[in-house]
Amino acid sequence: MERKNCFTYYDESEKLQLENTCNLYMDFLSRCKTERECVKEIIAMAEKAGYKDLDSVISSGEKLQCGDKIYSVCMKKAVALFRIGKKGITDGMNILGAHIDSPRLDIKQNPVFEDGELAFLDTHYYGGIKKYQWVTLPLALHGTVVKKDGSVIDINIGEDEKDPVFCVTDLLIHLAQEQMEKKGARVVEGEDLNILIGNEPVKGDEKEAVKANVLKLLKEKYNIEEEDFVSAEIEAVPAGKAREAGLDRSMIISYGQDDRVCAFTSLKAMLEIEESEKTACCLLVDKEEIGSVGATGMQSRFFENTVAEVMALTGEYTELNLRRALKNSRMLSSDVSSAYDPAYASAFEKKNVAFLSHGMVFNKFTGARGKSGSNDANAEYLADLRRIMDENNVHYQTAELGRVDLGGGGTIAYILALYGMEVIDSGVAVLSMHAPWEVTSKADVYEAEKGYKAFLINA
Ligand code: MN
Ligand code: MN
Repeated sequence: MERKNCFTYYDESEKLQLENTCNLYMDFLSRCKTERECVKEIIAMAEKAGYKDLDSVISSGEKLQCGDKIYSVCMKKAVALFRIGKKGITDGMNILGAHIDSPRLDIKQNPVFEDGELAFLDTHYYGGIKKYQWVTLPLALHGTVVKKDGSVIDINIGEDEKDPVFCVTDLLIHLAQEQMEKKGARVVEGEDLNILIGNEPVKGDEKEAVKANVLKLLKEKYNIEEEDFVSAEIEAVPAGKAREAGLDRSMIISYGQDDRVCAFTSLKAMLEIEESEKTACCLLVDKEEIGSVGATGMQSRFFENTVAEVMALTGEYTELNLRRALKNSRMLSSDVSSAYDPAYASAFEKKNVAFLSHGMVFNKFTGARGKSGSNDANAEYLADLRRIMDENNVHYQTAELGRVDLGGGGTIAYILALYGMEVIDSGVAVLSMHAPWEVTSKADVYEAEKGYKAFLINA
């Protein structure tokens, strides 16, 4: 079965649309590096497209009808959007799902310390990372500090070119003989991922004068006291913008493309569809990288509760209708897929791997060791998706995450499948997944958005 590089199909006008989508995508990546920043931007984009906050609709006493557009936010970290279709919600929705959290270094609750006249912030990494990749690159701090009185201070240091940046240091190669003998997982230890934040002492003979100076600056510039880190969520992420990659500018390199590439393209498709038979839904959640746990992760009841609220507003709600709506729904659970990398060819099985620029990816199953833990999508569902994609000129490929028994990974697919709905893992191929800078193909970004639109309208 042969599939071609998508760039070979495009004429000038399609190339223009592709560049337009990718410019918007790169701008989104550059400005939204945390789940909170993503949600803020998603709300702004949704409101611009005519979406209303579910809570405001509930309190206004209005009812929802075909064509109405609403969104609901969970704790500023997850969001669900609905566009009411011609049929009742009980007949099922077409759902796009993706996650907006990405691997990073989270600042601890008691983080500030000084050693060797250097001040640091201690971190606990979030999600699966190769720790050695996170040293010696410029990092930015993004997050939220909440004071005891409830006031909120938003932090974003290191993205403006006039801002300072931060880093985790590494041992010089000249003294690294013992370090280089260690296994990759231990070359840099998690507890050693400390972020360098200062070297200048305060004047006078205070003890730990460098730490004191850093704390003084935090107070003066941001009104943050050391104790305030207790009620803060600050994430250290690679500093800098998403960029075009390659002499041919065919690719995008950026932090956080897992899974914002699927989140952005799903959202864009959702906001742009004109009408649909079934209610369209786009679900963008947090905490996927640590097992979809917590109130803002996919395992929480947020989605189910929100669907119940929406059905109450369409006049359909009963417990049984809610169950039927979920069972009758179809979902594209989108997440990144591993792209074939010739440098690590033995990790893949070449007939069943995603290639960069070969279009949207469908993973019938992911999982590891005998498909364990995977959501194995039904052949009947895949057949219908093939029809939809072909009829709408969407280029796609099928893939597994890697060679049999090598590893595998989880997504949010299995959680929605618990309702008895049709779910399949789909998404976009990525090189260097989970590295500080990940690579995608512009063609795949473009095809994914096309695929999502085709699904929402025709599934
Ligand atoms: Mn992911
Ligand atoms: Mn991931």
